[in-house]
Amino acid sequence: MKGKVMSIIPIFIPHAGCPHQCVFCNQKKISGQKTASAEAVRQQIEKYLQWIKPGKENEAAFYGGSFTGLDMNLQEELFKPVDKLLQEGIIGSVRLSTRPDYIDEERLALLKKHNVSTVELGVQSLDDSVLELAGRGHNAASVVKAVELLRAHGFKTGLQLMCGMPGQTEASFMDTVAESIALKPDMVRLYPLLVIKDTPLEETYRSGKFTPLGVEAAAELCAAALQKFTGNGINVIRIGLQPDDELCSPGNIVAGPFHPAFGEIVKSMAVRNELMPQIMALVNAGRSKIKIYVPQNMESKLRGQHNSNIKCWQKMGACIEVIKTKNASIYLEGENNE
Ligand code: SF4
Repeated sequence: MKGKVMSIIPIFIPHAGCPHQCVFCNQKKISGQKTASAEAVRQQIEKYLQWIKPGKENEAAFYGGSFTGLDMNLQEELFKPVDKLLQEGIIGSVRLSTRPDYIDEERLALLKKHNVSTVELGVQSLDDSVLELAGRGHNAASVVKAVELLRAHGFKTGLQLMCGMPGQTEASFMDTVAESIALKPDMVRLYPLLVIKDTPLEETYRSGKFTPLGVEAAAELCAAALQKFTGNGINVIRIGLQPDDELCSPGNIVAGPFHPAFGEIVKSMAVRNELMPQIMALVNAGRSKIKIYVPQNMESKLRGQHNSNIKCWQKMGACIEVIKTKNASIYLEGENNE
């Protein structure tokens, strides 16, 4: 029997909850909205009520800004329309995102009172020097503390991580991935850093002091991270920013690895990396005529953009034939290449 499909009611709150200015952030641009108010929350909810099928599996999600950084009274106000949805059985839970240093006992008590079940932390990096260059205003220790508090109070915890930050090397990013795994989050989101209009980073970029990653380099890093997280049983629920109208409005993305199919590119690279050792072993054993059996819904991931994965394996000396299968997973067969 199939489970009920979960619907998410996204509610964007703007920068107002955050007195910081991370170098890469223009939260008003990303959320496309100027002020946080209960009325704005109501209006956003209204749009979704027309088509949502009521049920406990549905969730309201506050995105953007730093929710728990808002004045406590304003938080209470913003929760009111959501509390109504919970009482009417239209949704069963609430999630939100915030900064790690805005987590404490008092704030968590308020979230509990309003049925918040998942808290996502904007972590970005666990390298203190990278956090400082980004103007984050918190350190890695505050992330560890926040995760411990959230777990102690029974919240599901998500970590949002970024690659391509100023001063961040590949080693620094992969160390952050390893340290994040050790924190045992329930879920992770991966974002490549983009240079957004009207941010401090735009100036640094225009003065030539910062160069963002290209799509391929950013995707390679995210693919390596994706493999590590999934290999440790941690769900990666989003890769790359949502390409909505506001983010994609002309001139808004100044530079950086933006691609509307970024997540798909990353997943394809992860498949390429995962199959690489098996293909290499078959080639080295003289069985380079390789049949790859693939479930139909995974064929494009297996091939990669413009067959990039197939071309990569061919360069290793493999002769690849892709065969669709009804099996649930990918498997390989190698034959002697006579
Ligand atoms: S903490 Fe979050 S909302 Fe505040 S400036 Fe940084 S990224 Fe933007």
